[in-house]
Amino acid sequence: MEKKYCLECEETLKGRIDKKFCSDNCRSAFHNREGGKISPMVKVIDHQLKKNREILRQLFSQIGSTRENNELFVSSEEIRIYGFVFDFYTHKRVFDRVEYLFCYDYGYNKVDEERIHLIKHDLLNRGVDNIA
Ligand SMILES: [Zn+2]
Repeated sequence: MEKKYCLECEETLKGRIDKKFCSDNCRSAFHNREGGKISPMVKVIDHQLKKNREILRQLFSQIGSTRENNELFVSSEEIRIYGFVFDFYTHKRVFDRVEYLFCYDYGYNKVDEERIHLIKHDLLNRGVDNIA
């Protein structure tokens, strides 16, 4: 007879042929973990947030290298072309009474359609850092 192993700890199973776990502990450990799998919706949102961040990061370093550091502006049109979705952001921060929406460490403030101000702010450090 073919040997069967516990799905959780890979212990050899004895007894009933339809057994999947060596113990109740292994059964619940397995199901708890399976139940904790990331839902498709969370994956979609995570993907867009990371995509948004990557777009900001790239624009930030491109523009930052060609313009003055305090003039990190892009247009809505430009940022959308890359696939940026404005609805998705991780948190908000206010600097000098201006609210910035962040995708992780890169943030923006929509001044108007033509001017979206980009900043970088690492929560692990303090202050606004405009230098990539
Ligand atoms: Zn087990």
